[in-house]
Amino acid sequence: MAARRTNGRGRRNGPGETRVQVRTRIRRQLAKQWRKVRNRRRDFHHKTARALVNTCDVIALEKLNVAGMTRRPAPKPDPDKAGAFLPNVATGKAGLNKSILDAGWAQFAAILTAKAESAGRRVVSVNPAGTSIECHQCGRECTRPRQETVICPAHGKMDADVNGARNIAARAGLGSGQAFAA
Ligand SMILES: [Zn+2]
Repeated sequence: MAARRTNGRGRRNGPGETRVQVRTRIRRQLAKQWRKVRNRRRDFHHKTARALVNTCDVIALEKLNVAGMTRRPAPKPDPDKAGAFLPNVATGKAGLNKSILDAGWAQFAAILTAKAESAGRRVVSVNPAGTSIECHQCGRECTRPRQETVICPAHGKMDADVNGARNIAARAGLGSGQAFAA
């Protein structure tokens, strides 16, 4: 019994499989799961891009911060990507999360740009610095007590995504985006 628990390479691990076989099987199962996640994400990107291209004449995107993918994030509130969760602390983990999110964003931006161009839509890239933390009305720096909320010292509480979208629209020369806000 003890010999079986301390099994090494080539020895049986329970009925049928060696340790190496178990490891190989688990590695393959994991690879399959990751493939599923990637496929689901790409499918979501294609559907979202199609919906945007079908309903918008001009699409403004935050320019991907390629430099930021290899550096640790600044300790200050960051040039946020839409929908990204960025801790304000500069840790290795935050850098890793950011590069994973940026890879997803890069894929979505590429898919969206390709669809938009083939449909004759205009795509505008804007500088992402501060789009989520600046007030779209006065440009002051907001606080962000929660991911979905920003608070301007002058204009109070706003939906973080709507505020960010208005900043992006303004930088793309599309006005403040007021007409599009819900
Ligand atoms: Zn304000």
